[in-house]
Amino acid sequence: MPSEQTTRTESSNESDEGATESPLETARRQLHTAATHVDVDVGVIERLKHPTRIVEVSIPLERDDGSVDVFTGYRAQHDDVRGPYKGGLRFHPEVSAEECVGLAMWMTWKCAVMDIPFGGGKGGIVVDPKDLSTDEKEQLTRRFAEEIRDAVGPSQDIPAPDMGTDAQTMAWFMDAYSMQEGETIPGVVTGKPPVIGGSYGREEAPGRSVALIAREAAEHYGKAIDDLSVAIQGYGSVGANAARLLDERGADVVAVSDVIGGIYDSDGLDTHSIPSYREDPEGVKHYDAPQTVGNAELLELDVDVLVPAAVGNVITTENASRIAADIVVEGANGPTTSGADAILEERGVHVIPDILANAGGVTVSYFEWLQDINRRTWSLERVNEELESEMLEAWGAVSAEVEERGVSWRDAAYIVALERIGVAKEARGLWP
Ligand code: GLU
Repeated sequence: MPSEQTTRTESSNESDEGATESPLETARRQLHTAATHVDVDVGVIERLKHPTRIVEVSIPLERDDGSVDVFTGYRAQHDDVRGPYKGGLRFHPEVSAEECVGLAMWMTWKCAVMDIPFGGGKGGIVVDPKDLSTDEKEQLTRRFAEEIRDAVGPSQDIPAPDMGTDAQTMAWFMDAYSMQEGETIPGVVTGKPPVIGGSYGREEAPGRSVALIAREAAEHYGKAIDDLSVAIQGYGSVGANAARLLDERGADVVAVSDVIGGIYDSDGLDTHSIPSYREDPEGVKHYDAPQTVGNAELLELDVDVLVPAAVGNVITTENASRIAADIVVEGANGPTTSGADAILEERGVHVIPDILANAGGVTVSYFEWLQDINRRTWSLERVNEELESEMLEAWGAVSAEVEERGVSWRDAAYIVALERIGVAKEARGLWP
């Protein structure tokens, strides 16, 4: 029975030496496994193990006290055979070149699974945003935009929000880029505030797709949404939106957590009354729930659907044998290591991968980019309708592979992505 409120999200695998792996290791292993199922040229697979390029920059920042600190920033561009590089910018102390490459690879697959005309990119700055004042964050973002200006652009590489960045960060980035280009170029980033060319529904989109895919997955295995118990790790943009939508549609969200710890109610929590991380960073703690639950413990609750929607590498070889949920829907990028994946598959736990489940974010980013290019705003209703239809289409393509080949959901999603990328590579050929 859940009891304590002590565990930090990241600590769930701290004692798990050797069980964790970097996003790049996970991404390469996943590619390797999926490659055995597809008829794609080995040369193409070899190429896809490597990024096109990684830009590394130094970003000097004058702090509020007048001193100067220098930060390191990256932009990794993995593949652009299907269109411009696309993916988030992360401000986090653990950002590294290797992490950016792994995350950029996932973006390549994510865009291909969704069949949107983008490739994969990811970048970030090695910094804890909690250590920055708002002014410092703005200066750092603007200088970073300037340092990577040659690498980005609406038809080249289009950043978006990720961990530690948000709509305001994108607004500063877009402004800095536009100032230097001499004209307003909203399509250089997505996830902006709607008032300057952002899309309605972009902020909620990753959580919305997680909720949609959780519903589809549950129905696939014979469970109706109003009969579903769900536990969600992480109550930020992805977790809170997924929780509220599932709750609205009749599921019992029995446990949620943030970085400090979690709360539990076997009758289902009132998710709309629990402030999300953005509304109150300690909102989960302040909510009066019948029981508390640690982050590690939340992952092991006996629920129908578990949604890890916080950080990567939380389901590892150390705890995979204790995951009691029937279905895991990955809200975060890379929450399951490849070792854990194998254990879950063996145990019959169905893992719906991040590259499908949280792809609502980049899909609405694509809608935003279209709106920016056409200088025409879509209504929220249109965004949500088109998002639902794109998600159902991708779900259909992936579930067809699961049924035909009897593979895991992750392998099926990779098969769909790799086949689309392989066909595009073949059509374009190798230059020179
Ligand atoms: N950072 C988000 C992701 O990992 C969104 C990327 C985008 O919209 O370009 O999917």
